Amino acid sequence: CGIVGFVGDQDDALPFLMAGLKRLEYRGYDSAGIALAAHDGIVIQKTRGRLAQLEKRVATLPGHVPCGIGHTRWATHGRPTDENAHPHMDCTGTIATVHNGIIENFQDLKEELIAKGHRFLSDTDTEVIPHLLEEYGGLTDLVGAVQAAEARLRGAYAFLAVSSHEPDKIVAVRRSSPLVVGLGEGQNYLASDFSAFLDLTRRAIVLENGDMAVVTPQNVSITTTHGEPLNRPVMVVDWDI
Ligand code: GLU
Repeated sequence: CGIVGFVGDQDDALPFLMAGLKRLEYRGYDSAGIALAAHDGIVIQKTRGRLAQLEKRVATLPGHVPCGIGHTRWATHGRPTDENAHPHMDCTGTIATVHNGIIENFQDLKEELIAKGHRFLSDTDTEVIPHLLEEYGGLTDLVGAVQAAEARLRGAYAFLAVSSHEPDKIVAVRRSSPLVVGLGEGQNYLASDFSAFLDLTRRAIVLENGDMAVVTPQNVSITTTHGEPLNRPVMVVDWDI
């Protein structure tokens, strides 16, 4: 129900992810989780229940990982359990994704992927996304894989993907569910709404339906999901938080 992402060239992603999720609490949730991406792998902590529970678990995570994504879940497919909480990963544990909304054709995709040898660990519609990304070359080219995988998805959704092969970027797609980019200094943010990052920056880009964003510490590139460049205005958010 809430998405956050952080990529920076110095700071640790974890404090931002936890603070951002707290700011999005008002949207309601039954589970929460985060993934930190670094060259030596992806670390995930996720749990059914409140953010306080997640806080206990992340206390033991490694610090100074400058790229990560977080999620508060409002279950639509699969009960609220630890396994069904986001983020979800591909078979190799290289790619992690968080997702809001619904993948309407997940059942067909899941059957197709299982027939190709993919193993699923959850009952969510979401888990087809990291497996599709793996299938479409995401282990070495995350952007290309998101373009190819997104063409297979039906529904209303927003998702973020990170890879330990390219831990300097977050790839995001918006299709109906809201998603905004926050522009910082040497770091950039993604979230379901501005409130997640307004204490850090007031400069933001609102993604439109069908937009894909590739976000690095220094750059935000917005294209269609076919890779054609788009120009989205930078706005200054002047409301109080
Ligand atoms: N459909 C997904 C799930 O049930 C995402 C729900 C959400 O938006 O939180 O896990």
